[in-house]
Amino acid sequence: MADVEQPALFTLEPFRVEVLRSTRRKRTVGAQLVGGVLKVAIPSWMSRAEEAQWVEKMAARYRRTLSTDRIDLVTRSAALARRYDLPRPTEIRWADDMTARWGSCSLHSRSVRISTRLAAFPDWVIDYVIVHELAHLLVAGHGPDFWRLASRYPKAERAIGYLIAKAADGPDDGDAAGHEGCD
Ligand SMILES: [Zn+2]
Repeated sequence: MADVEQPALFTLEPFRVEVLRSTRRKRTVGAQLVGGVLKVAIPSWMSRAEEAQWVEKMAARYRRTLSTDRIDLVTRSAALARRYDLPRPTEIRWADDMTARWGSCSLHSRSVRISTRLAAFPDWVIDYVIVHELAHLLVAGHGPDFWRLASRYPKAERAIGYLIAKAADGPDDGDAAGHEGCD
């Protein structure tokens, strides 16, 4: 199906990368986006292979940050809540510190967090994760009652397949099916 293979945003590199080898840096790697140039500072002892790894890691982080700007989660979740007759969260925001999960929600505060790693994925996949978390505002856990709500989103099954594939080839994700969780 053609729309499964939409080119992700990260194929369009929005910045140039410049590597600075520093003798003052002992262990840490830093990165800063300055006027369209991502300046990655690494310790001078690092090998070319390590350099390449860090450049990719830092570039990925900045691409995610840039691509989250195009999506207004509050507006989007309100529209999805309306369309699929689900509750609206009290708060929904991007989170950059989620490595093993795509989304999470707190039943206590009724707030939702969406991993910035999703920002580079197609909109219909992001929408699925939002709907999934909104469904959790009504039903915790993944029983039949939960899936009846989550599958109101027509592309739920395809989105799950997409996320499992992404988790499997993600470099920083050991939890392939760990798409989300609820507190
Ligand atoms: Zn869930």
